[in-house]
Amino acid sequence: MNEADSQYIADRAASAGYVVAERPEDANVVILNTCTVREGAERRAYGRMSHFKMLKNADPALKLVVTGCLAEQDRDSMQRHAPHLDGVFGTKELMQLGDAIARWREEFADTALSEERALVVPLGGAADCVTDAFSHLRGFVTVQRGCSYYCTFCIVPHVRGRFDHRPMVDVLNETKQRVDEGAREIMLVGQTVNAYRDPAGDGDFGELCRRVAQTFGLERLTFISPHPKDFTKKVLSDLAQVPQLNPRIHLPLQSASDPVLRRMNRKYTLAQYEEKVAWIREHLPDAAITTDVIVAFPGETEEDFQATLDYVRTGIFANAFMFIYSKRRGTPAAHWDQVPAAVASERFARLADAQNAVTRAYHDRKIGTIVRALVQGVSKKDRSKLAAKTLDNVTVIAPFPSSTSGVRPDDLAQTPWLDVSIDAGYVWGCGGTVVRRAERFADAGISLERPLVNLLTA
Ligand code: SF4
Repeated sequence: MNEADSQYIADRAASAGYVVAERPEDANVVILNTCTVREGAERRAYGRMSHFKMLKNADPALKLVVTGCLAEQDRDSMQRHAPHLDGVFGTKELMQLGDAIARWREEFADTALSEERALVVPLGGAADCVTDAFSHLRGFVTVQRGCSYYCTFCIVPHVRGRFDHRPMVDVLNETKQRVDEGAREIMLVGQTVNAYRDPAGDGDFGELCRRVAQTFGLERLTFISPHPKDFTKKVLSDLAQVPQLNPRIHLPLQSASDPVLRRMNRKYTLAQYEEKVAWIREHLPDAAITTDVIVAFPGETEEDFQATLDYVRTGIFANAFMFIYSKRRGTPAAHWDQVPAAVASERFARLADAQNAVTRAYHDRKIGTIVRALVQGVSKKDRSKLAAKTLDNVTVIAPFPSSTSGVRPDDLAQTPWLDVSIDAGYVWGCGGTVVRRAERFADAGISLERPLVNLLTA
């Protein structure tokens, strides 16, 4: 959701005439898009705010703005703690933030707003999730904001409000716009995306996906993040009719213990979750299933944890986001008996070992195959390599093909589908060699192997 919001902010900034700066110190406007889903994210955001105070001291004309969930949660106290901020915009004030950025552009009209002094949107350590030559290839389209489910550990309904579904016609229009701008893959985004209901009609999530898939030129479709409760047979049967659907379903488990699921207010038992898995297997037999798991939720016993560990060990999940429970102010679970930190860490290590072995085996199974993946850009860890994502969302890293040396990123993004021959599997993904590149997903691809010329017979 934050990535989708960042894309919106970057779009508004670009249409107001800004360009993205490489470093905060080169920027006229610095926007910090914050998360509050875990305590660590909150601490980092405040740390970043005080770090940026130095920039503001050095250049008082700089505009420093905070948005996102932390801004929503602490809107009354944030400017008291950080008086150097020029604005705090909550999760429902993105449009106003866009308007403010556009207004400020006038102030910088005389200051030679060049490519060196522009706008930066720092997220994490670098300005990722913001426009670069490749970011338009995956278009985020928000279909719904907020959540009405009130899981007892979750801050989202408190900072983003209850369900607010976007009219289907708006989703379809934005999809078309993103595809026209060059998106090869559309990701429908919502806190509980498959609970979608068209406020202007009666269409559900299945219908939305079928309609989105009819967008002329749409190559791939994916979505994040669904809730197990909202996968009905009807929705899954609709999804099975979408030829562009990526073969990966994220199905957050959180815990495999019924008493824990009940206290989490997750609205399903393990048996009901397993039923949804069976339906997915029936309708989308090729889909990889990924998940989220919370370790050491308040009151989690060793027996509860063992149930989760045993379930993960069955090998059901191609990958999992695993977290130690993090206390969130204002949520019910924050007031309950907490699992001691040492116990939590020890359980987390056991769970991570188990899931990492499963994930590694899933990636190893790709060795010797050629996978088609959408380029994401230059690998952050190794600048001599390209990073790409397979349809089942596995990261693939491969050296720049020699045929692309000297090619500008813009041109590289024109043929963004890479056929990668996989020769290594890791926990984080796979490594390989690019053997073909294709302009469109449906294209056969252009081979990058040099034609062999036999000089004796030529
Ligand atoms: S369904 Fe997801 S977003 Fe909604 S309250 Fe639960 S964890 Fe939070």
